[in-house]
Amino acid sequence: MTDPRTALSTRRSGELFDRACEAIPGGVNSPVRAFSSVGGTPRFITSAQGCRLTDADDNVYIDLISSWGPMILGHAHPEVVAAVQKAASTGLSFGAPTEAEIDLAEAIIGRVAPVQQVRLVNSGTEATMSAVRLARGFTGRTKIVKFSGCYHGHVDALLADAGSGVATLGLPTSPGVTGAQAADTMVLPYNDLPALEAAFAAHPDEIACVITEAAAGNMGAIAPLPGFNQGLRDLTSKYGALLIVDEVMTGFRVTRSGWFGIDGVAGDLYTFGKVMSGGLPAAAFGGRADVMARLAPAGPVYQAGTLSGNPVAVAAGLATLNAADDAVYAALDANSHRIGDLIGDALTTAGVGHRVQYAGSLVSVFFTSDPETAITDYAGVKSSETWRFPAFFHALLSRGVYPPPSAFEAWFVSAALDEDAFDVIADAMPAAAQAAAAAPEPDQAH
Ligand code: PLP
Repeated sequence: MTDPRTALSTRRSGELFDRACEAIPGGVNSPVRAFSSVGGTPRFITSAQGCRLTDADDNVYIDLISSWGPMILGHAHPEVVAAVQKAASTGLSFGAPTEAEIDLAEAIIGRVAPVQQVRLVNSGTEATMSAVRLARGFTGRTKIVKFSGCYHGHVDALLADAGSGVATLGLPTSPGVTGAQAADTMVLPYNDLPALEAAFAAHPDEIACVITEAAAGNMGAIAPLPGFNQGLRDLTSKYGALLIVDEVMTGFRVTRSGWFGIDGVAGDLYTFGKVMSGGLPAAAFGGRADVMARLAPAGPVYQAGTLSGNPVAVAAGLATLNAADDAVYAALDANSHRIGDLIGDALTTAGVGHRVQYAGSLVSVFFTSDPETAITDYAGVKSSETWRFPAFFHALLSRGVYPPPSAFEAWFVSAALDEDAFDVIADAMPAAAQAAAAAPEPDQAH
């Protein structure tokens, strides 16, 4: 079977997807993998090496997702694989402390100056959930503020107006989140300090924390406007609330010190995941020692995990951080700008209004009839011409380039992209731009 959208054989992936749909809801273990918003057959991956993915039909793709962020070094990096093999050969899980956990905590502390202590967990969701609980426990307050279009994992209280898969599937919010769980969450527009000032003025003693993506990457790449993160710092300090900076996506990707290495604004608490996991299930939260001291067993705020600090995941994370030297960060910056330029040049030639936006080395494209106006919040993202994206996506995929299957996601490059990979991307881009140009507007589609 050949997928008519892609002209590549998808017979085996199609069979596996049918089988998966019987055993797994929607056939996938995380929603955006299902291609729901772009259509077509999700590819079942059999192996990955460097910047290339191979699927079950032996198609090879240049990977511009990097497992949604972690694989900055590329896939199956020899140093990471060796560290994982070594750790695995000495035991998979002990449920007791190890020296390597201290090494990873210290590696994070050494890179992000405001972080004085770290607790390891298993996913970014767990990190943000725990950080919010700790902020409430520390301040004795209940309300939290998040920003529209920012995604912090699938924590009940943080799903309101979230970006990423929630936006991709067009869900206003999720059934199963009770009114009580959402009632203490205030959702404000991103990059809007007056809105936050007004919220604090209305609830001066009730807001436990403001949680923000250090730079928004889950509604496409939207960097904080100059002064926005500093304004969050100033307002939270003024009103006695904590600032939680979510660096799950940006951490150890946009610089060695994450977004903190770009703007130097100090949060009270941080959340990390993705890159520091090396591609295995690991994440972390950390911050001010006096706040972290409230965490069990040192303090009364409970938080725990059977597999937290898993030795194999810790080995992968440490090996990744250690291998990510200056040359890697220079390559990530150069590669994302090279891809952004290729996208922009092709769309300009095809006459498609667009903006290529960056947040550090995160890059994404917005189709827009008003390309002079920067997109700075979720309302701007939602009013862009996202209907052009499926045609653009499939034209790339059919030519061996695999960007995220959603108009609402940033593209994640790796340092492993080579000249042959850029040739494939450069060859694919003009046809993709033409497909975007020819995409029918939804109202005119029938
Ligand atoms: N926070 C941010 C900024 C994220 O981008 C994500 C995931 O994409 C999360 C939290 C949740 O992380 P996880 O998927 O590991 O639960």
